[in-house]
Amino acid sequence: MKVFKFGGASVSSADAVRNSVNILKMYPDNKVLVISAMGKTTNALEIVARRYFSGDTEVWAAFEEVKAYHDQIITELWGNPNELPEVKKMFTELGNRIKGERSLNFDYEYDQIVAFGELLSTQIISLYFNSIGLKNQWVDVRTCLKTDDVFREANIEWELSERLAKRVFTFESEDLYITQGFVGATLTNQTTTLGREGSDYTAAILANLLDAEDVSIWKNVPGILNADPDFFAQTQKIGELSYKEAIELSYSGAKVIHPKTIKPLQNKNIPLLVKSFVDPQEPGTIIHSLAHRLDLVPVIIVKNNMALITLSPNDFSFISIGNVSDMFGLFARFRLKVGLLQQSAIDLSLVFDEPEQGIDELISKLQEKFEVKYNTGLDLVTVRYYTPEVVAQLTNGRTVYVEQKSRRTARMLMK
Ligand code: ASP
Ligand code: MG
Repeated sequence: MKVFKFGGASVSSADAVRNSVNILKMYPDNKVLVISAMGKTTNALEIVARRYFSGDTEVWAAFEEVKAYHDQIITELWGNPNELPEVKKMFTELGNRIKGERSLNFDYEYDQIVAFGELLSTQIISLYFNSIGLKNQWVDVRTCLKTDDVFREANIEWELSERLAKRVFTFESEDLYITQGFVGATLTNQTTTLGREGSDYTAAILANLLDAEDVSIWKNVPGILNADPDFFAQTQKIGELSYKEAIELSYSGAKVIHPKTIKPLQNKNIPLLVKSFVDPQEPGTIIHSLAHRLDLVPVIIVKNNMALITLSPNDFSFISIGNVSDMFGLFARFRLKVGLLQQSAIDLSLVFDEPEQGIDELISKLQEKFEVKYNTGLDLVTVRYYTPEVVAQLTNGRTVYVEQKSRRTARMLMK
C-alpha cells in the first residue's frame, strides 16, 4: 500500500485535478490519497475565521469567495454548473457556523472553519474521480485521526488512531481511499488541525499507522532543491537524503516538507519520495535510511519575517539557568518557537518566527526581569554544507545580527 499526498497547488484548478488522475493511473497499487485544500483556500478560510470571530459582517464576502472558487472548479470539471449535494451540504454547514454564536476560543473556532478547505477538496475530487470511473472511497479523516484539543496544533493520539485507521482503511473492496490532510478530531469529535502546511504530516501519520510501503508527496518542483528557485538563479536537485538530513533541512525552514513529517516515517523505515506532478516520470528526491554520509552541495534555506529578542538581566547578573527556564516557559505559553539561540556572558539572543499578533504582553513580562531589545523583519539564512564563498556571497552588503557556525551548518540572522 502506498500513501500519496497532493498539496494545494496540485489540485488548484480543474486541469490540475485532471493531471492528478494521470498520476494515479501510473500506479496500480492500493493507495491512500491525502489531499490539501485547493489552491489558497486555507488562507481564504483564515480570513473567514478572523472576520467571524471579530463579528465583522464582511465575513459573508469572504465566504462567498471561497464558494465561488469551488463552484468554478466544479463547473470546469463537470463541464457545466453542477450542484453536488455533498458539497452543498458542506457549504450549508459552514454558513450555519458563521451565523451561529461564537465561543471565546479563537483557535477552536479557527479549526471548525478552516478544516472545510480539506473537506471540500476531498469531497469534490472523490466525486469527480468516481464520475469518470476512477473508483474510490471518501473518508472523513476525523473518524480515525484522533488528537488532543490543542486547537491549531493538535497532537496525535497514536494508539487510538492506529486502531481506528486499521478499521477504516481495510482495502477489502476498495483500492483507493481519498481523505483530508491537516485535519483531525478530538475524542469528543471536535475538529482540530495539525498546524499550517500539515497535510504532509497527515500522509506520514497514516503511512505509519497503516504500515505503508512508501509515501509520495507530489509537488510543483522536481524534488528537494538546494535553494528556493524563486530567489536563487542556480539550483540543483538533491537526489537522496537521509531522514536525519531531511529533519535538519525542514526544521531550518526548507519549505518542501513539513518538519513533523519525517519522524513517523523514520520510525517505521518508510521511504518518502518528493516528486513533481509536472514530470511524474522523473525520480524526484528520495528520503530514506542511509548508512553512508552524503556529500551534498551547499543547501541554502531562507526564512523571512524572523524576530530577534535580546535579553540582558536588569541587575547585570549573568544569565542563569533559572532565568533561562522561566523565559522558555514564557515562550512556550506564547507558542513561539525559538529557531536559534545565542548566549554571551550577560545576554541571551533568541530568534523566532515573528508572530501575527504582537508580542507586547510577552515583552512587558520579560521586562520585569530583563532589559529587552526587539527587532523584526529579519531573514534567517541557514547554509548546510557551507563554504566560505557561499557565506560571503550571502552576507555581502547586509547587516548581520547573529551568526553561528558549526562544522556543517552556518546560520546568519540578517537585515
Ligand atoms: N491546507 C493547509 C494549509 O494550507 C494544509 C496543507 O496544505 O498542508 O496550511
Ligand atoms: Mg499547502
